[in-house]
Amino acid sequence: MEFDAIIVGAGLTGSALAVALRSTDLKLALVDGRAFSTACPDPRAYAISPANMRFFSRIGIWRHLKHHHACPIHRMCILGDAGGELEFSADDEGIEALAWMVEAGALHEELSATLDRQHNVSFYRPAVPTSMSVSRTHAELVLDDGSRLRGRLVIGADGANSWVRKECGIASQDIPYGEIGIVGTFRAERPHRHTAYQWFLGSGVLAWLPLSGDRISIVWAIPEDQGRELMAMDSAQIAARVAAAGEHALGEFALEGAISSFPLRMLRVDRMTASRVALLGDAGHVLHPLSGHGVNLGFRDADELARRLALLGAGHDPGDPAVLRAYARARAEETFALQTGTHLMRTLFAARAPALAPIRNLGMNLTGRLPVLKSMLVRYATSGRLFHGESND
Ligand SMILES: Cc1cc2nc3c(=O)[nH]c(=O)nc-3n(C[C@H](O)[C@H](O)[C@H](O)COP(=O)(O)OP(=O)(O)OC[C@H]3O[C@@H](n4cnc5c(N)ncnc54)[C@H](O)[C@@H]3O)c2cc1C
Repeated sequence: MEFDAIIVGAGLTGSALAVALRSTDLKLALVDGRAFSTACPDPRAYAISPANMRFFSRIGIWRHLKHHHACPIHRMCILGDAGGELEFSADDEGIEALAWMVEAGALHEELSATLDRQHNVSFYRPAVPTSMSVSRTHAELVLDDGSRLRGRLVIGADGANSWVRKECGIASQDIPYGEIGIVGTFRAERPHRHTAYQWFLGSGVLAWLPLSGDRISIVWAIPEDQGRELMAMDSAQIAARVAAAGEHALGEFALEGAISSFPLRMLRVDRMTASRVALLGDAGHVLHPLSGHGVNLGFRDADELARRLALLGAGHDPGDPAVLRAYARARAEETFALQTGTHLMRTLFAARAPALAPIRNLGMNLTGRLPVLKSMLVRYATSGRLFHGESND
């Protein structure tokens, strides 16, 4: 079968790219190793940045998500391990919300329902590619179900262990943090008032993120041995530990559903493109979850690539090296800034040397008193940019 673009990976970022291309003439294939299911196996909830809220609006999936699933974050409190405190509020910054929390299941459902109605996508799932060959004019993928797909562009949206990335020889550096990210949803005794909390604790970084109703989603980045201990507890013990780690700021907790854990790492790639190939999402960058930006960066990739492909006239080659170069250039700065900033922050707070604690906590307190620096950090947290600059939002 012949396609303009073959997207390998129908996770959140690959699916968002396919949806963003729905009003183009491009003929798309979407390949995923997992069978289609309306149930989403991902227990995470994501803080969608204002830039991605605008992307979702443009591709037509925000209205329903906003009204039925999204919980705005109006305030964020960050607390250090020795009295440091930093607070951000949407009101102070003159914006509607710092971010919107949306559960992965709701995002997955919305994207799948939109893809279902889309005419320019053929689905290959469950199927995985077993070989890829690239010529001057095309790439060809052979799938394990025997299908042969020819496309002018292959998009690797197949996650952190990307097969596409390895197959086309893009080198990567993988830095494991020796921590796991524990994720779960809890009912809180007291209302969260749309406030997100993040603690930099001796035992890692803990975030409480508001969801609709009285629920919160937590991400606890914790050393592997302590994490395994926590995962072995029963649900009442886990709820008590999570509530106590945040000094019962929202009273007692009750666990809703199961908790899950993910190994944490940083992954950098040497380049985001190769001949007739572009990487997207975790295939091209993985970062520590303390910044809450992993999937946001992936959606920004999807937005950028979709805009560039949509601008091409009929018959124009989507795998044109100039298009791929422009995509890679456009994504380089934000990705570098967020990966580097997140890694530095994680390194600073993971350092156990007692002399460092007062310095980093003083830094937080001083930042809170410097409105310009604070606004820069809000901009960094909401858009990945420290300064006002060219934006195509
Ligand atoms: C603990 C934790 C908390 C996080 N919290 C946040 C947060 O608050 N905010 C945020 O922005 N980000 C967060 N992230 C990051 C976020 O989860 C990821 O960035 C995001 O899930 C990546 O999406 P993706 O679509 O790029 O990749 P994936 O979700 O990994 O999807 C890849 C898809 O490709 C398919 N696939 C894989 N290999 C193949 C193959 N060979 N052939 C065919 N299909 C294949 C898979 O089945 C899957 O559907 C967090 C991450 C962790 C670990």
